[in-house]
Amino acid sequence: MSDAAAMLRDALPLRFDSFDAAARPTGLVIVDIVNGFATVGAGALAPPAPDQQVARMVRETDALARAFIAAGRPVLAFLDSHVPGKPEPPYPPHCEIGSGEEQLVPELAWLEAEATATLVRKDCINGFVGAMDVNTGRNAVADWVNGFGLESVLVVGICTDICVMDFVLTLLSARNHGLMPSLAEVAVFEPGCATYDLPRALAVSLGLPETAAHPKAVTHHAGLYFMASRGARLVDAVA
Ligand SMILES: [Zn+2]
Repeated sequence: MSDAAAMLRDALPLRFDSFDAAARPTGLVIVDIVNGFATVGAGALAPPAPDQQVARMVRETDALARAFIAAGRPVLAFLDSHVPGKPEPPYPPHCEIGSGEEQLVPELAWLEAEATATLVRKDCINGFVGAMDVNTGRNAVADWVNGFGLESVLVVGICTDICVMDFVLTLLSARNHGLMPSLAEVAVFEPGCATYDLPRALAVSLGLPETAAHPKAVTHHAGLYFMASRGARLVDAVA
């Protein structure tokens, strides 16, 4: 672990507890565990080499999703999906429809056949915004929470400090705004989250501005901190 990450852990401590999915109506949200973000070499934003944190995320999410489905609990998976040629600044082209990058990783592809799994394609970072129908204003996440009367939502996925964080922060605001009256709790399962690693020296060596620096240990921690500071519950075990 880097000195910066150690300093962050000291300055911004995190508290984790365990989560009981049977305690009340609970749904699982899986954020963007698609090939383009989580399969080695699958695209511009995929891990360039095997990554232990990404592998752990996939393994933990598969186990969690199987437990939820077996118990009859709803699962919603976001799939980052873009119309080819339509950019999503500031990112390079990724997860274009038809490329395969926009599909669930092979370990989670079984979810496509599950009746209690809802797949939501989105073309922006924030899954809550991406779940909004631009014509009707209906929101697929709010409809899912309200339809199942969920009191708790557990979130996993990639990247901790980008798509996971934006979704969780917005879900908390949407809850507080009264869009999902049953929803009491938003929890984040840390072993089911991952982010990418682009240390400052590597960013510069690739010709990127130094502000593109994204050291994994620091950004993963920061993402967890901001979600917790806005009211999300951090968990490291699920019963
Ligand atoms: Zn995208």
